[in-house]
Amino acid sequence: MTVRHPALAATDPALAALVGAEERLQAETLRLIPSENYVSAAVLEASGTVLQNKYSEGYPGRRYYEGQQNIDQVESLAIDRAKAVFGVDHANVQPYSGSPANLAVYLAFAQPGDTVMGMALPMGGHLTHGWGVSATGSWFRGVQYGVRADTGRIDFDEVRELALKERPKVIFCGGTALPRTIDFAAFAEIAQEAGAVLVADIAHIAGLIAGGAHPSPVPHVDVVSTTTHKTLRGPRGAMLMCREEHAKAIDKAVFPGLQGGPHNQTTAGIAVALHEASQDSFRAYAHAVVANAKALAEALLERGFDLVSGGTDNHLILMDLTPKDVPGKVAAKALDRAGIVVNYNTVPYDSRRPFDPSGVRIGTPSLTSRGLGVSDMAVVADWIDRGVAAAGRGDEAALSVVRAEVAELMAAHPAPGLPLA
Ligand SMILES: *Cc1c(COP(=O)(O)O)cnc(C)c1O
Repeated sequence: MTVRHPALAATDPALAALVGAEERLQAETLRLIPSENYVSAAVLEASGTVLQNKYSEGYPGRRYYEGQQNIDQVESLAIDRAKAVFGVDHANVQPYSGSPANLAVYLAFAQPGDTVMGMALPMGGHLTHGWGVSATGSWFRGVQYGVRADTGRIDFDEVRELALKERPKVIFCGGTALPRTIDFAAFAEIAQEAGAVLVADIAHIAGLIAGGAHPSPVPHVDVVSTTTHKTLRGPRGAMLMCREEHAKAIDKAVFPGLQGGPHNQTTAGIAVALHEASQDSFRAYAHAVVANAKALAEALLERGFDLVSGGTDNHLILMDLTPKDVPGKVAAKALDRAGIVVNYNTVPYDSRRPFDPSGVRIGTPSLTSRGLGVSDMAVVADWIDRGVAAAGRGDEAALSVVRAEVAELMAAHPAPGLPLA
């Protein structure tokens, strides 16, 4: 076998062995966590370059360190590509990740103690949308909306009522477990009535938007926040995008408000991912992600699974396992032993606790990156069905059988960036 990381193997064999084990794990398993993906070999290479060695506090042309001849161009490329892919006036590509990006938005538009509004975490929101255990819910007064119990969908009458009563400075839309299209225009109308800054957090769906498989928030919202490592298929990082009128406030909040030197190797990886996202092949990818998710949802419904909101419009499916009589965590751990990687998740109005909830969250970004298609989704649903049933009766042998079948299909579909498969 060729050594994939020779310098690392020579310097630190223990760490090299762990990286190798992780490469095999990612190659051999069916990864269904909807926030994960496989980056291309080109994105991996860009993220592992000597750009790592360089300090560059400030922005292109306005730095606090010399020697920026190349770095300025790298960051400008990333910015220009973000503007072109998403059709925005302004892009900041420096936030270290999605959570710090959202913190920067608060820093730009709110003062400690102000009221902010977002979707409740157990309803499908994100910690940084004002949830209590997050700094965003303790430094600000977070008021939270949810989804309707009967439809699993956002109730815009409820959102409007709450916004007009509480008058938040900032409203976040978007989330981590929302299987349906987000109606950015409806949020915009409410934010305008309430006099709030509207932020679309598209961390999960950025790739779908870039590829034209989900409507864009850009015409409707003040600020777009996104990670770069989920459906967008870039390195772990984030971007903030906005109209020109908010550009100064956003840039000032990211640096010097919240961060020091940007991670230039990540900026380079983001630039490469955005270049990839501008290609026709990425449009095809984004549409295939959604087609696969819809096919998988259909196949799960046929097998008696209860899906929050009854299905999906995007890359994500939230299953309520209550009717299967298997807790989400038990199912997730059993599926992991069967080579199917998912995460347990609360479902709206969950009767169980957050660390031991009723749901499992799955998605199709990673399997689509490996080239699996609609015709493969019945097999995937079957594995999930057999895995959950085996979890219910504690049948380890059945899980091993599924694991072998998964490994065989995965071997036929090598993952990007992983020549091992
Ligand atoms: C993933 C995610 C984030 C946070 O991103 P990190 O990079 O994990 O900090 C924020 N908002 C939403 C909606 C997300 O899905």
